[in-house]
Amino acid sequence: MNAGKGPGQGPIQEAAEASNTSVGVCDFCATLRPTWRYEAQPFVRSLAGTGVVVLWDDLWAACDACHLLIEADQWARLLRRHKRLNPTAMDAVIAAETAALWMQFEQFRTGPAKRIGGAVS
Ligand SMILES: [Zn+2]
Repeated sequence: MNAGKGPGQGPIQEAAEASNTSVGVCDFCATLRPTWRYEAQPFVRSLAGTGVVVLWDDLWAACDACHLLIEADQWARLLRRHKRLNPTAMDAVIAAETAALWMQFEQFRTGPAKRIGGAVS
């Protein structure tokens, strides 16, 4: 986590930046080396209470565990997983914001998940 950012630009802003480097980190739980990618229409979203508007790009990465939860429509369990793996980054506001963001992702998804690297499991 970067110190020295202005007020109101904490973990949510960093999560947004993580999306733009989605080849290396799962966009849903932030673990390394995601194995799935999703395509979506880019969308903008203003972050609750911050006035910050973030452009979410068209490529989302997911690890195996998150992929299974996404495919099963288990968003509440996905959020619990995210909280468990990122305990210092989550408070109630961020959790609500994250859940809302994922709903928007689901809405803007353009197709099925694809294996990164094209390998078939
Ligand atoms: Zn994940």
